[in-house]
Amino acid sequence: MKLVSYCPVCHYHYNPLEARVLDESEGAHLIFVRCGRCKSAIVALILNGSFGISSVGLVTDLDGDEIDKFRELSSITADDVIANYEFIRGGELERVVGL
Ligand SMILES: [Zn+2]
Repeated sequence: MKLVSYCPVCHYHYNPLEARVLDESEGAHLIFVRCGRCKSAIVALILNGSFGISSVGLVTDLDGDEIDKFRELSSITADDVIANYEFIRGGELERVVGL
């Protein structure tokens, strides 16, 4: 829980009331916290499992609403990557943006 108590960038102590729960299900909570001092943000997944409470978090430049938006999109597949590669390689990107 240390990650969620302190800003990993400037070590400022978070106010727990500033944490926003983005999602929760079956003992797992996805939370978002923005540091009151340096304004950096973290998104963390807190799991309450059979081995106790654990958390994993990362610093993000997204805000809470953007995390909600991207969370609902489907994952990028290998086919998506190949299609984008071929799009760029085939010169379509230059045609679209007018280069
Ligand atoms: Zn901070």
